[in-house]
Amino acid sequence: MKILLRFDDIAENMNWDMMDKCENLFDQYNIKPLMGVIPHNQDLTLKSFPKRDDFWKIIKSWQEKGWEISMHGYNHLYNKKTHKKDYFKYGGASEFFGEPLDLQVEKINKGLEIFKKNKIKIRSFFAPNHTYDTNTFLALKKSGIFEIIDGYGLRPYTHDNIKFIPQLFYKLFFLPIGLQTTQIHLNEMNEKDFNNLTSLIKEKNQNIVSYNDALKLLSDGKIDKILNKLVYYILILKRKIF
Ligand SMILES: [Zn+2]
Repeated sequence: MKILLRFDDIAENMNWDMMDKCENLFDQYNIKPLMGVIPHNQDLTLKSFPKRDDFWKIIKSWQEKGWEISMHGYNHLYNKKTHKKDYFKYGGASEFFGEPLDLQVEKINKGLEIFKKNKIKIRSFFAPNHTYDTNTFLALKKSGIFEIIDGYGLRPYTHDNIKFIPQLFYKLFFLPIGLQTTQIHLNEMNEKDFNNLTSLIKEKNQNIVSYNDALKLLSDGKIDKILNKLVYYILILKRKIF
């Protein structure tokens, strides 16, 4: 079993005290997480957190350490209703779902421009609230992004020329096989959550992989395809019942 640590909602305004603690922890155990950076944050909840003016310098230093920087939406304003018709059937509101293709392309390109200006290389993406439509995937491909940190499965897979790196659970919960991607909301972390993360890293640091190593676990074999489908149906069913 391998674990990829995915952090959501990395923005100029965030819980920097907690971030500093996490960074020290990662350095201590040589952990290379995947950081979901919002290039142009307009989310007022996030804006209520303290701001760091050297934000892009910090992001650059993370990339230089081998951490993966991923694009997490454009402005993190997710107010469009999906009526449960979003691609992964999460059903929550969206920043991208239902928008015309050209507007989705424009948003993604504007985001990429910001990263480029700050000399940050981007190859992957995940949308706020896990919500996509088929145009989001088209827009990403048109913008040169072919890797998405979302989806259902026990290991990364390819579909329609995109690599999907599955993200299944909200909590730190691990199946005994495959690759699990965590979803850690730094801004909502308290001391207890930090202690849980510390224990996880102490116990399982041999299992925690970098994004590059996570990609190597990609499989489009027949058995993996069946297992991925199974995970999809189980989680959709679980969501309908609970
Ligand atoms: Zn988010």
